[in-house]
Amino acid sequence: MTRNKKRKTAVRAAQLATGHRYIRAARELATAPAQADQAFLLKELLAECATMPPADVDWGDLEGYGPAVFESVLLRTAVPYGTVLELAGALAREGTGAQLRLESLDPLESATITAGERRFQLILSQELVYELCRQLHCPHQPVNRTIIRCSEHLADCDEKELAAMAGEWGFALHEELGRDAPHRLGGSPEADLLLKAAVAQGAFELVSTSLLQACFEDPELIDEIFWDEEEALDMRHALERERIRLQRIARDEAQRARKKAGSCLVCGTQLVGAGLHIPPQYCSRDCVPPPASAPAFSEEPPF
Ligand SMILES: [Zn+2]
Ligand SMILES: [Zn+2]
Repeated sequence: MTRNKKRKTAVRAAQLATGHRYIRAARELATAPAQADQAFLLKELLAECATMPPADVDWGDLEGYGPAVFESVLLRTAVPYGTVLELAGALAREGTGAQLRLESLDPLESATITAGERRFQLILSQELVYELCRQLHCPHQPVNRTIIRCSEHLADCDEKELAAMAGEWGFALHEELGRDAPHRLGGSPEADLLLKAAVAQGAFELVSTSLLQACFEDPELIDEIFWDEEEALDMRHALERERIRLQRIARDEAQRARKKAGSCLVCGTQLVGAGLHIPPQYCSRDCVPPPASAPAFSEEPPF
């Protein structure tokens, strides 16, 4: 008996024994912890998709509208063929050797899988896949293709990650609107989200510079790029306007965070404006704890 058949038989037996519908019996069986975090390859899932016969499932209210599905041993549930193909498309860059893990499962509803740092929600009642925020267990979608966390988890990124995302977002705007519409390059809500997250890390300068340099032309080169003086002036104005706007957003955000914290998390000093170069919950750089990954500082030699 194949594992798939075994599972189906087990579900049917559970269904008979308990009188539950297939969907509920399958759900109860799937919550068993067996194989929960066992890795498999995208090509193994594709092989199942290519060889498994269509499965007969009870869609309940969806009867007659459910997609064609097969019983996946790897995902431990019935999966639409189209959903697996969507996933393969989303993982085109990683290739069929991508290593996948099942993070959570709600049979006939959705499954969450991880592929390296990326996470995907597979919709099991439609031929659909959504990319999810990279924070483990987060149910939200990322802000967009280049800002790969949800708005809530952006603040958990370190300053390097934020600066990299800001650069990619700036570059995406530049590619889309480019030099023809400098006044439209600034003011994106995505920039606001990135900057607020940067303020929480005390990384305003790094992140805003990364964004502005990628989004607008290099200020040193504007006169060389634009032969037309008015066009050069438009680009300069747009760049400066966005710089000022980002600074205003950052100052407001820092003030809001300081007000919320009240006093320094470490020494208890009343918080006043200490600039944008440290996280707003601390009174000075002396009170900011070192990053968790930094090696502990020691004045003593090791022996
Ligand atoms: Zn999230
Ligand atoms: Zn302090």
